[in-house]
Amino acid sequence: MYIIPMQNMEYQGRFAPSPTGLLHVGNARTALIAWCAARHCGGIFIVRGEDLDKPRVVPGMMEAQMNDLKWLGLDWDAGPDIGGVHGPYLQSLRHQHYQAALDQLHRQEMLFPCTRSRKDLRGLASEPNRATIVCPQSLRPTHDVSPQWYTEANRGVTIRLKVPDQRIEFLDRVFGPQKELLAVEVGDFALRRKDGIYAYQLAVAVDDLFMNITEVVRGKDLLDSTARQLFLMDLLGGTRPSYAHVPLVLNPNGEKLSKRDASLSLAALRESGVAPERLVGYLAWSLGLLPDKVSLSARELIQHFDWNAVKKHRSDWILPGNFLRSLVSDVTLSHCTAT
Ligand code: GLU
Repeated sequence: MYIIPMQNMEYQGRFAPSPTGLLHVGNARTALIAWCAARHCGGIFIVRGEDLDKPRVVPGMMEAQMNDLKWLGLDWDAGPDIGGVHGPYLQSLRHQHYQAALDQLHRQEMLFPCTRSRKDLRGLASEPNRATIVCPQSLRPTHDVSPQWYTEANRGVTIRLKVPDQRIEFLDRVFGPQKELLAVEVGDFALRRKDGIYAYQLAVAVDDLFMNITEVVRGKDLLDSTARQLFLMDLLGGTRPSYAHVPLVLNPNGEKLSKRDASLSLAALRESGVAPERLVGYLAWSLGLLPDKVSLSARELIQHFDWNAVKKHRSDWILPGNFLRSLVSDVTLSHCTAT
């Protein structure tokens, strides 16, 4: 087994942004929860840059995101800028780990080559409009694939995982018990894309295992990736982390925040003179961690952190129309002093 065994069970959390655009208010809320959860119990906090999808990575964005996190008041014990024991903390520098995992899965006879395009699969799907395109077991090669396929597999071939009829179950700290029949919900999912890029599911499962992450805190939009990652972790061997998926922030029209909402990026807020303490207080209030929209630092928030409050506020949060105005307005918010 190539995984470094866990030395102790000290809490290790992480925030793992993809440097494909500026962090927005929703990312800030997720990062704040992940950081508070780690700091609240005296744990370790890691930042990992998920920059595998090179065509989507924006040069300089990782540095910009880390600056935004620092502006918000967060700090980390290991990350792309400072290194750490399980570094490097940029996925683009970790190919050997993903390849080692793929090699192990190949030895376990869990992989097969696939030349079908997404379009082919969508055409074959019983529900072609679903966001996740299911690759059914019936598409595995029926003829003998040359034993060299794996070493010869290069561009043009997707490497897929043979997913058995197995139900994956886990308890999400916020959304409760979850179960997924992988073969039906996602099928034989890809671990390396046709363009040679390791898939998100593989990279995240390998990194969370290798970096000894004890709890993954991330946006609710990734809840349905967790079963795939757990299945991979079980195959690779090692201790599963626990999971806490947190509600999303929606724009005033009720849509998921995207890079198009440039005015809701942390950089834009900072440039318009918003104080980080005001944003932290507002976000903490939105999560039920504070009764009022007071102004306080991320560090001051640690003592108020409570998973039960987050659990009670687990509906997505629609930003009020006056959100930006209330952040920059002259109305003085009361200052919350540490007790
Ligand atoms: N890199 C992903 C994102 O920026 C997050 C992945 C994760 O937290 O597992 O959405």
